[in-house]
Amino acid sequence: MMKVYCAIDLGGTKMNIGIMTKNGEVLEHIKIPTFVEKGPKQAIKRMKNTIYELLEKLGLKEESLKGIGIGSPGPLDSEKGIIIKSANLKGWENVEIVKSLAEDFENIPIKLENDGNAAALGEYLFGFGKGSKNFVYITVSTGVGGGAIIDGKLQKGGNSNAFEVGHTIISLNGPKCNCGNYGCLEAYASGTAIGRIAREKLSEGRESLISKIAGEDCVKAEHVFEAAKEGDALAIEIVENEGYYLGIGIYNIIALYNPEKISIGGGVSNGLELFYDKMIETINSMSLKPNIEICNIKKAHRDDCGLVGAGALVFYK
Ligand SMILES: [Zn+2]
Repeated sequence: MMKVYCAIDLGGTKMNIGIMTKNGEVLEHIKIPTFVEKGPKQAIKRMKNTIYELLEKLGLKEESLKGIGIGSPGPLDSEKGIIIKSANLKGWENVEIVKSLAEDFENIPIKLENDGNAAALGEYLFGFGKGSKNFVYITVSTGVGGGAIIDGKLQKGGNSNAFEVGHTIISLNGPKCNCGNYGCLEAYASGTAIGRIAREKLSEGRESLISKIAGEDCVKAEHVFEAAKEGDALAIEIVENEGYYLGIGIYNIIALYNPEKISIGGGVSNGLELFYDKMIETINSMSLKPNIEICNIKKAHRDDCGLVGAGALVFYK
């Protein structure tokens, strides 16, 4: 009998649900809307239905399913299997997601973990992190998050909320972050920040291709990247700024964890080639050379590391 694992990457707009093997091969997956505003009950019900649907599609019996792993926005309690409260899952509070799934899927392990940690595990086991012992994954999109594997062990922290790198403070006089702090890495280097900085500069009257590319749309990071590729001066300035601040954030990680490998995922990593040199230059300009020298930094190899990492929670020791 084939042994498979169910992986659930739960997000604020959609959930990606897949059936995978222990080797990180996704046999089948479906993305469905979360409908956060309709509450957790309906979402969990559709989650269950989708698992049955996937198994049927693959011609697998329920006995083949050896566990379910969920990566979810935090804060959460992985021991108790509860999503406590999350800015991305508005209105969901103390959701006993593991218990709810166990009503249908008895006698198999069901694991819940912070989505950043799950993605780090996925990229560590099946992506660029493969073969290393000390690895850090950073995701840069709406926010900045990630996870760390040190000495081959996922660093969960006291209640599964370790590695909030996006809310480490890199300048006390910086812009206000969504979390309430000032000067968080996320407020400088997230995709949201790139969009905000571009809009600020444009409203100061700077001439740029960015507005032309964005057209009627609200200016976003992707518009800035496109303009930078065309050689637009303002766009290049903004992506250099991204490289500088992300470089500082990554230097802090290098100083703390001394990893051999770091990979960068999330939507902003699609523009990595535009700010990679500035980012590396910033890191190289810092002290702690022995830490910097052994660290290899690349774009994440698995776009779906959040999914496969969630599934791997079941069998990763
Ligand atoms: Zn913050």
